[in-house]
Amino acid sequence: MITAGIDIGSTTTKAVVLKDGDSFSYALQPTGIDIGSVSRQVLTQACEKAGLKFEDPDRIVATGYGRISIPFATTTITEITCNAYGVHHLFPNASLVVDIGGQDSKVIKIDKNGRVIQFAMNDKCAAGTGKFLEVAAQTLGVPVSEIGDISQQSKNKVPISSTCTVFAQTEIVSLIARQTNKEDIAAGLHESIVSRVFGLISSVNPDPKAEVVLTGGVAKNAAIVQLLERMLGRKIYVPEDPQIVTALGAALLARQWED
Ligand code: ADP
Repeated sequence: MITAGIDIGSTTTKAVVLKDGDSFSYALQPTGIDIGSVSRQVLTQACEKAGLKFEDPDRIVATGYGRISIPFATTTITEITCNAYGVHHLFPNASLVVDIGGQDSKVIKIDKNGRVIQFAMNDKCAAGTGKFLEVAAQTLGVPVSEIGDISQQSKNKVPISSTCTVFAQTEIVSLIARQTNKEDIAAGLHESIVSRVFGLISSVNPDPKAEVVLTGGVAKNAAIVQLLERMLGRKIYVPEDPQIVTALGAALLARQWED
């Protein structure tokens, strides 16, 4: 059976295609404003990488904030359920997931079957999300994919006192005007985002022995992973491509869908 999962995130749309539950191919693209057409394009690309056509998947599960706008989906499932299931597939012993995406961050406690026990979400404010890093990177004039490495070169971290993204941007501009170097500003920004995420993690009172997995585009930032590991005092597991785990969970759950 060929199944597909499409995760329409606030920033990036991802598609994963599975043949009989494994050998997966995937594709991703910025979400933009035309959710229907970007989803179709991303699924077509993922199918082509697997030597398939857009029409070939037997079942398609759509997830993410834009999931209701996908006319070709067999069904929709929430991103919390799909993310938990995708993580469980990759890390069967994981019991705590931290997902930092473009416009929200989530903490999910999962059971030994990958089912959601409890979750907490920050989606009211960009602080503690990828958007915060995107705005900061743009203000510093560096690509978001490099801001983590830049922060790790800091010798004298500058604390960022504003938690609000808009005020933090103003703070960055005034630090630049005072000739503070970008490495030190970036280090302060990373500290700020990780403190927010740590607060979210603490709110679910996690088991101190829980195996923790970090997903979402921000998990590609090694400085975030390292800081969070230091704050939590334990190892954090990161999938090979942490951004597509929710789409993978959707493609896996599509196999279980009863027609
Ligand atoms: P969503 O599901 O909400 O669309 P994603 O999980 O796709 O969000 O994450 C998007 C965020 O990931 C971006 O805002 C950006 O901060 C971060 N990101 C994406 N690619 C990279 C990269 N190569 N290096 C560091 N951060 C990245």
